Amino acid sequence: MRISRLLIAVCVAVAPRAGAQQALPDLGSAGDATLSPQMERRLGEQVMREIRFREPTYVDDPEVSEYLATLGNRLTQASVGARQDFEFFAIRDNSINAFAMPGGFVGVHTGLISAAETESELASVLAHEVAHVTQRHIARMLGQQQQMQMPMMVALAAAILLGRSRPDLASGAAVAAQAGAVQSQLAYSRDFEREADRLGLRALETAGFDPHAMSSFFEKMQRASRIADDGTMPGYLRTHPVTFERIADAQNRAASLPYRQHPDSAEFQLVRAKLRADQGDARDAVRYFDAVVREGRYASEAAARYGLASALLRARRARDADAEVGRLRRTGAEGPMIDALAARVKQGQGEQETAAKLLATARKRYPYSRALLYAHVGVLHDAARDQDALAVLTEPMRLYPKDATLHQLQAKCYAALGKRLLQHQAQAEVYVLQGSLPAAIEQLQLARSAGDGDFYQLSVVDARLKELRTQHAVEVRDAKR
Ligand SMILES: [Zn+2]
Repeated sequence: MRISRLLIAVCVAVAPRAGAQQALPDLGSAGDATLSPQMERRLGEQVMREIRFREPTYVDDPEVSEYLATLGNRLTQASVGARQDFEFFAIRDNSINAFAMPGGFVGVHTGLISAAETESELASVLAHEVAHVTQRHIARMLGQQQQMQMPMMVALAAAILLGRSRPDLASGAAVAAQAGAVQSQLAYSRDFEREADRLGLRALETAGFDPHAMSSFFEKMQRASRIADDGTMPGYLRTHPVTFERIADAQNRAASLPYRQHPDSAEFQLVRAKLRADQGDARDAVRYFDAVVREGRYASEAAARYGLASALLRARRARDADAEVGRLRRTGAEGPMIDALAARVKQGQGEQETAAKLLATARKRYPYSRALLYAHVGVLHDAARDQDALAVLTEPMRLYPKDATLHQLQAKCYAALGKRLLQHQAQAEVYVLQGSLPAAIEQLQLARSAGDGDFYQLSVVDARLKELRTQHAVEVRDAKR
């Protein structure tokens, strides 16, 4: 269901610009069976915005995102023809699935991250998805959809999205049958699968992962699908049918390659533990990790203790979590995720200053960790040290001007300091980055009338307002065309 829903979201994202029918030529000229790379990217960005800001299952966790970005980056560097930008993100869903969207956006279900027992297994699925992108399989499929199925998919999208917010309106069998029909057309063809496997395996090997992991993970998924004979097949298998032929091919190709032990990164295990600790009822999560630690059922003691401490913190047992972090440290494990957890635990105990110090030290050691930066600014803000928080933000905002989270944090700090012009100005930039120009323009108007700006600040706001209005006018005009 997932992929069809996302591709449907593609249409929804485009449709509101000028009503369903008129928006269709926007996807590329008729007769062109492949979307242009620019159009593909634009489409992907729009869907990504929908997911990031409207999809409740989107995992908005900078540590998980950072991990996936690092892993994904290793694979795209090793992939042939991966010249574009990629973005990897997680969706909280227990099914084993991953999907590539137009424009290099790759979604990974948390179920896949849990089901993968080694990092090479997870990497094998991602490498396959990356190959679908580099080979422009999605663009080609969408190009065909556009001529054949777009109006139907737009109608379907409305029904399904409506059904999501109003379950009573999810009009059962008819929609489901149609969704099934669309979905089968969106499944990758055998040729596409073969190509993605072949190139994915090559990237896996080049990036230093164990190439045998691909076939072993295929087999695992196939076994899982046989157990679930009630039709709840892993989503991945529906869109990427795993056949004996695929398994045999992957085995044969890997057989000619030397066996390579790939040690899992510390973050692989920590991210898995974090996702598990965040799942379901907090007390259940504590019980789960408690048993894991006590019985020694883990690949990594540090990750098991990390999971236990996270679950304890979630269950509002910050003191116990603190003791567990101590045991975690004594395993000798270190890294930005562990420092960030230690700081969250201190915050949970009301020790804001200790947490702030911990994060300041950690950031010196791991200056590129965005997650540590967000946490540091957040804890300074919580400790009512907004001026310090703003000072911490200055340099990163110059380095990463397109990071919406930084602008959001800045707006929060200005708000706490009662600086209204600056607050609305920062909030406007958040909306610009989220692709919502009308909301941004509104914020700048609020900034103008805030009454606490000097002449220079007001002229900066005016200039930006003018710029955004022009940009918005162009967007409106393009949508009408
Ligand atoms: Zn595939």
